[in-house]
Amino acid sequence: MVESIRLNLQGVLDESYDILIGYGLLESIPSDLKRNPIGRKYAVITDSNLRDLYGEKLLRGLKKENINACLITVPAGEESKSLDMVKYLAEKLLENKLDRKSAIIALGGGVIGDLSGFTASIFMRGIPYIQVPTTLLAQVDSSIGGKTAVDTKEGKNLLGAFYQPKRVYIDPSLLKTLPEREFISGIAEVIKYGVIYDRGFFEYLERNVDEIRSLNEEKLYHIIRTSCLIKKSVVEEDPRDENKRAILNYGHTPAHALERLSGYKCLHGEAVSVGMRISGWIAVKKGFWRIDEWKRQNKLIESFGLPLRMEFNLEEFIKTLYYDKKIEEGVLMFVFPKRIGEMASINGRYKIPVSEEELRLFLAELADI
Ligand code: NAD
Ligand code: ZN
Repeated sequence: MVESIRLNLQGVLDESYDILIGYGLLESIPSDLKRNPIGRKYAVITDSNLRDLYGEKLLRGLKKENINACLITVPAGEESKSLDMVKYLAEKLLENKLDRKSAIIALGGGVIGDLSGFTASIFMRGIPYIQVPTTLLAQVDSSIGGKTAVDTKEGKNLLGAFYQPKRVYIDPSLLKTLPEREFISGIAEVIKYGVIYDRGFFEYLERNVDEIRSLNEEKLYHIIRTSCLIKKSVVEEDPRDENKRAILNYGHTPAHALERLSGYKCLHGEAVSVGMRISGWIAVKKGFWRIDEWKRQNKLIESFGLPLRMEFNLEEFIKTLYYDKKIEEGVLMFVFPKRIGEMASINGRYKIPVSEEELRLFLAELADI
């Protein structure tokens, strides 16, 4: 005999959170946490480049407010997004007596955000965490949306969880110390938002290239704010990445392959730039997008000093595309613009299959353009 007992867990989980943006915000995080606490004790997790720049300062500020806090540092770089580092962090958290009522503050770029968020998701079965993004990429993209992960030797982001932060503090003034190449790399995601969602924003970027490149406060604030609003809208519509959220991955299918082929020497945004040229071209060839708009996108990418081309072997590239998480039943999936500011869908689905034959044909042609 088989008996079935149903455990009912319907109910809607409220995972809403605030994204605060402001110049100089880093300094007011301690007082804000005093007023609106997330935990009884905090571990600030940061990397070796940021410890002296901002980590110690944040810790001092927390102590000044009589907030119980400690500072944990991991080596800067993608290599820190590993299970070994999760284990190291868990040990440090235990050593510093963090418990289920404690919270993590992720102070850093996407590496720190992804690693700390994932650690928070499993430490004592999950403790709250706060994002304090310090790179442009993290401020406009990775700190929002709750995707956390670490890499394995087989590939990037293969172990992870959806785990939303409890608050995000974005201070654009932190970008003043960011190396220029990292800043420009983040711009690739900003251009992406224009192409996938907001034609007016794309035009704003076209008009303000020089001011943005020189970190003009008003322009920088505007692009960060607009990017956050776009990401927010897409994530709200599809938090679990079931359909619409895929548009955020425009250019990313080729980009991930290029990053892998380069041995992760190129920066993410650089690969995304080349990837947008490739995905955009496939969109043109498949009849979704007009060629003049594709050229306009490429011109904007180039005007920020981002690359449009990378040397790769076509067969190796196609082979590497299959490592992508977006692959469905062995078929490569892409997302395509239909005009600047809007993505194409077929029967309401944004991920569109592309056969290997098509890819070979289109990409061979792209080499000459
Ligand atoms: P990163 O975190 O490695 O930071 C880049 C470098 O800049 C590091 O050396 C860091 O120490 C330094 N740095 C950071 N902020 C600085 C500052 N204000 N001043 C001086 N130096 C500073 O790189 P990233 O580009 O921010 O993040 C890349 C990671 O983000 C990748 O692992 C990627 O997979 C992940 N990512 C995640 C999501 C998501 O939704 N979770 C989205 C996009 C990317
Ligand atoms: Zn990206």
